[in-house]
Amino acid sequence: MCLTGKLALLSLLGLLVPLTCQAASDEQKEFAFGVIERNAAPMAKIGDSIYYFAELGMQEFESTKLLKDVLESGGFTVQLGAAGMPTNLWARFGNGHPTIAIVSEIDALPEGSQTPMELARKPLVPGAPGHMEGHNTHGGLAAAAAFAVKETMMRYGIPGSVIVSLGPAEEQLISRPYIVRAGYFKDVDAIIYLHIGDQMATGYGLANYASISATFTFHGKTAHAAVDPWDAKDALDANQLMDVGVAYLRQQLHPTYRIHRVVTNGGIQPNVIPDLAQTWWWVRDANMPDAVQTFEKLVNVAKGAALMTGTTQEYQIIAAGWPQLGMKAIAEAVQGNIDKVGMPRWSDDEQRFAHELQKSAGRPEVGLKTAVTPLGGRPQGYASNDNGDVSWTVPAGLLAFPAIVPGIAIHEWHAAITPTSTIAHKGMVTGAKVLSASVLDLLTRPDILQKARTEFDAQLKQTPYFAVLPPDAKPPLDLNKATMDRYRPEMRKFYLGEQPRLF
Ligand SMILES: [Zn+2]
Repeated sequence: MCLTGKLALLSLLGLLVPLTCQAASDEQKEFAFGVIERNAAPMAKIGDSIYYFAELGMQEFESTKLLKDVLESGGFTVQLGAAGMPTNLWARFGNGHPTIAIVSEIDALPEGSQTPMELARKPLVPGAPGHMEGHNTHGGLAAAAAFAVKETMMRYGIPGSVIVSLGPAEEQLISRPYIVRAGYFKDVDAIIYLHIGDQMATGYGLANYASISATFTFHGKTAHAAVDPWDAKDALDANQLMDVGVAYLRQQLHPTYRIHRVVTNGGIQPNVIPDLAQTWWWVRDANMPDAVQTFEKLVNVAKGAALMTGTTQEYQIIAAGWPQLGMKAIAEAVQGNIDKVGMPRWSDDEQRFAHELQKSAGRPEVGLKTAVTPLGGRPQGYASNDNGDVSWTVPAGLLAFPAIVPGIAIHEWHAAITPTSTIAHKGMVTGAKVLSASVLDLLTRPDILQKARTEFDAQLKQTPYFAVLPPDAKPPLDLNKATMDRYRPEMRKFYLGEQPRLF
């Protein structure tokens, strides 16, 4: 038995024990893998159920209800509604340290409804949301891995706590800064962030981009556009001038920047001069200080546009996420488990289907990956994830598990074809094994936690974390409510109606 396995007893006896334990033993990991293998079917059922719920951010009511039941019946204490968000799930087993959290999300995307395994575009419910990124696989995987860790802790007397944190509305980068602000991660020693991918990989350093999402609104004065236009102050003009101003700004920005926008209010009809106009902007960069610098330039451009048009302007930061930061010490442990578990064994049918899907989506026909990604083989991505703020609050490890067909772009309906397939199910099993083994390593190896903390402190000294979310910001709970209210009655017909249990 591993030395830390006896810690609970020894600490009861008041003995001072140096924490020099080896990694969670192979025996402990094999035990956890056994728990995961026997739960492969319920895990798949959880993923499939959440696929058909297909709930947009802040509306994950059915998904979190199912997961709450799964986790509670699995021995976890589950809180829904933490940090003021009803669909925020925080589950815990155990007491005291080390406290290791598994962090992920479960929301779907607008207009992603699609018939599983159907290569042609065929929504289950036309216009309805759907899982075209595969977040439906996250909750089942996180729950099964945490459950396997719990069973192993009980079997081997491993002290500490394991947490599952599933935050709402990742697709709009909303919830994690609120969960961080509410102090939920203060007491956590390390996290592992989990996301679906086309490969089995971890990484360290900056994993993706910082992002600031904000609306800029101009208020003017309306008038008849032909009779007395000179009496008006055209808010749409200000909107347009801001757009032009930002276009000229682009030359003066760091080469790493990204800026994108949609006009969310451009007036009503041409003969009514708009007194209200709005654009929703996203500013991104390789790190948050640069993104903030660019954002401040946007604010000045908006002020200039208002001055030119005699309008007034205001902006509201809707969401802001730091780039995800991974710790090398944790990545090395995760990689050890990736190498141990390996890739799923794909069947000929699965490989054939992957080729067909790649062909029909106009992508290179490379099939499914058969080798794990070596450490350092994953460059910084350009997308963003609000988990970034968590990774600047507590040392983080990152894990991508292979459940997407390579080359199939997420946020696109082709990616909604396979999240309930055996490809996804097998990816979940291997991902859950790596995740449970990695959490066990963090629970039993204080040296990894120590190294990760030293690394984290050095990083924070170099780039101190600051909240970009305004202190008075409140989570937008009605986000996506109208869309879900509109489509849910039709979507409900596809619900699987099952309540999977882990055992
Ligand atoms: Zn995602």
